[in-house]
Amino acid sequence: MTRTVVVVGTGGAGLATAIAAAEGGARVELVDKQAAIGGMLHIANGEFSGAGSRRQAERGIEDSPQRHLAEVQRISHGRVDADLAELSVRHQGELVDWLDDLGFEFHPDCPGLIHGHEVYDVPRTYWGVEHGRSVITVLERLLLDQVRAGRIRMHLSTTMTGLRRDGDRVVGVEVERDGEAGVIGGDAVVLATGGYDANLELRNRFLPEHCHSVLVGCLDHATGDGLVLAEQLGAAVSADGIFLPVMGLIPDPERPRHAVDYREAFVEMAPAYRTPHEIWVNKDGRRFVAEDTTSPERRERELLRQPDNTMHVVFDAGVVEHAPVSLIRNPADEWTPERFAAACETSPWVTRGDSLEELAERLGVDAEALGQSVAAYNAGVESGQDELGRTTLPRRLDRAPYYAITTVAASILSRDGLAVDTGMRVLDTDGQPISGLHAVGEVLGNNKFAGDNYVGGMSITPAMTLGRLLGSRLAAAQPETQAESHPVKESR
Ligand SMILES: Cc1cc2nc3c(=O)[nH]c(=O)nc-3n(C[C@H](O)[C@H](O)[C@H](O)COP(=O)(O)OP(=O)(O)OC[C@H]3O[C@@H](n4cnc5c(N)ncnc54)[C@H](O)[C@@H]3O)c2cc1C
Repeated sequence: MTRTVVVVGTGGAGLATAIAAAEGGARVELVDKQAAIGGMLHIANGEFSGAGSRRQAERGIEDSPQRHLAEVQRISHGRVDADLAELSVRHQGELVDWLDDLGFEFHPDCPGLIHGHEVYDVPRTYWGVEHGRSVITVLERLLLDQVRAGRIRMHLSTTMTGLRRDGDRVVGVEVERDGEAGVIGGDAVVLATGGYDANLELRNRFLPEHCHSVLVGCLDHATGDGLVLAEQLGAAVSADGIFLPVMGLIPDPERPRHAVDYREAFVEMAPAYRTPHEIWVNKDGRRFVAEDTTSPERRERELLRQPDNTMHVVFDAGVVEHAPVSLIRNPADEWTPERFAAACETSPWVTRGDSLEELAERLGVDAEALGQSVAAYNAGVESGQDELGRTTLPRRLDRAPYYAITTVAASILSRDGLAVDTGMRVLDTDGQPISGLHAVGEVLGNNKFAGDNYVGGMSITPAMTLGRLLGSRLAAAQPETQAESHPVKESR
């Protein structure tokens, strides 16, 4: 008998699961509360990682899953879920080849070394010409094939509001669409609902208290619904107390506690991509890290020690005139030095002052401290000896007007999540599987794959890799119940 698999979420995890399940012969009910598929892939850099791919071999890069796993352990300080990380990494190279076979539009520079997180030992990171959207493009094609073949039924703009049980077994999801309630039944339910970072109350349950003011840097759909509903059924949820921010996001003047959309603008912090011409000061007006520090982790941890996890990027007219690249970037590389210079005069993201004192006053920073920080930096430029050990010292900051861009640490993905075994079965607080319930993707929490750091590609790639494994396995398993559905409305 054909199995019915209910997949909730159409991000990388849900799409990979649904497609694999349908290709394996299952009937799939695919639910998403949004009107369009893709989830966080719409905003993500879309960097994924995998070892032993054909693209690596063609370029003479020697690599293996074992070597990749050793790197994941090194960068995560050995704090990943060893079994899940091993399972994922073992198959990630195959995922890269699979995307290759599908005609994925790789950026010509990949596999590459990426400097936004701690750098891997060999190039094993890949990304598309349109970043996360390139992944959506190939998966959507496969999805539509399965929809046309009648193996996947789509339920967009449909919100999962509950998990339906028959005895101890999860047999479907309760949904709502346009205010109308319904049930979508299946032999297995897969929660691929992503993280919780857009839900401040839930997010701050997991963040250390001194990080509660960090900005939301992800899209609004990440409200933790799957985690909350599974927890109500007794699922175990990690609480590791780990947090590492993303740097460079700009507070949105129109949306308190949220960052300006990453696709529009952020301050590039990595010296591999932009030589710093400015200094960074905290809310006390003091520098706290050498701005050319190459380790992202070091920069991120230093920011977490600063008051309100806030910093000001301070520069002068000389930087605006001479810095060869804009301090502000976006993934589409739309920020030219000319556009940046114009923004310095008009943008609400930039604070201006005709003197350092005026700038300090507008920032609410102690003027004397800021003056001392700039004077000490300028002395370092003259002597070649910076007090924080910075070695990139392009020019003094001494030409009015002075400027600052305030940036605040941000959370972009959830660190904690549902406990699962290597069959992606959701576990209860006694470590027993909750019958019929599975989870994959960011709903598991990124700590399982990145420990207490960011590890290149180790969110999107496990989401898709383990989703594919799960979908195939669910299609092959024996049906345990007769699926029963009365969805609200059929769509597509
Ligand atoms: C700016 C940014 C850059 C990033 N860059 C990278 C990167 O380069 N590499 C990397 O590995 N990771 C990156 N990440 C993280 C990565 O994008 C995510 O962790 C990953 O895409 C999550 O995939 P997912 O399928 O688990 O969840 P999502 O993509 O978030 O999808 C979840 C889906 O579930 C749906 N949903 C949620 N609740 C319900 C409900 N109640 N009912 C119905 N549907 C529901 C949502 O609408 C959504 O479509 C980045 C994140 C951000 C914000």
